[in-house]
Amino acid sequence: MAYKISDACISCGACAAECPVEAISEGDTQYQIDPDKCIDCGTCAETCPVGAPAQA
Ligand code: SF4
Ligand code: SF4
Repeated sequence: MAYKISDACISCGACAAECPVEAISEGDTQYQIDPDKCIDCGTCAETCPVGAPAQA
């Protein structure tokens, strides 16, 4: 299962810079994860200051 970013996201961009497969991009209202690219490494969840990314 891919990770998913909840609406707690404050769009700081930290996770996008750390994702090893560039699965995270800036969406219309907050950052989002492409489930087809995500390899489930958990780095975004560890990086996020507000705990927004979680396993879907
Ligand atoms: Fe990227 Fe890993 Fe987060 Fe998936 S779990 S979006 S691969 S940092
Ligand atoms: Fe949003 Fe967290 Fe990623 Fe920052 S690190 S853009 S708050 S999901």
